[in-house]
Amino acid sequence: MSDETTSGAADGRPAPLGGPSSPTEPSRLTCVCGHDRTHYLVSPVPTYTGWGKFWVIFMGVSTRPVRVDFKCRQCGQLFDFTEDAEELGRFL
Ligand SMILES: [Zn+2]
Repeated sequence: MSDETTSGAADGRPAPLGGPSSPTEPSRLTCVCGHDRTHYLVSPVPTYTGWGKFWVIFMGVSTRPVRVDFKCRQCGQLFDFTEDAEELGRFL
């Protein structure tokens, strides 16, 4: 006597994570206004190490930030950041 139950199979199955975004697409984060990091209303906000900040503020020397956040000047939202060394090099 087989006991194959086909009904109720939908139970206990984790739903797939919703979202139309494909995993191959690069991150295109935007603020609530829809501005991405290249928008002219979006400012990079660099974060330096303790010493890096010292050089920038007191010595006026440009140093490479350890992290850059992207902030929209319209809504004030920090919606993206980078810690990629190559990208950070552009903010010297
Ligand atoms: Zn915005």
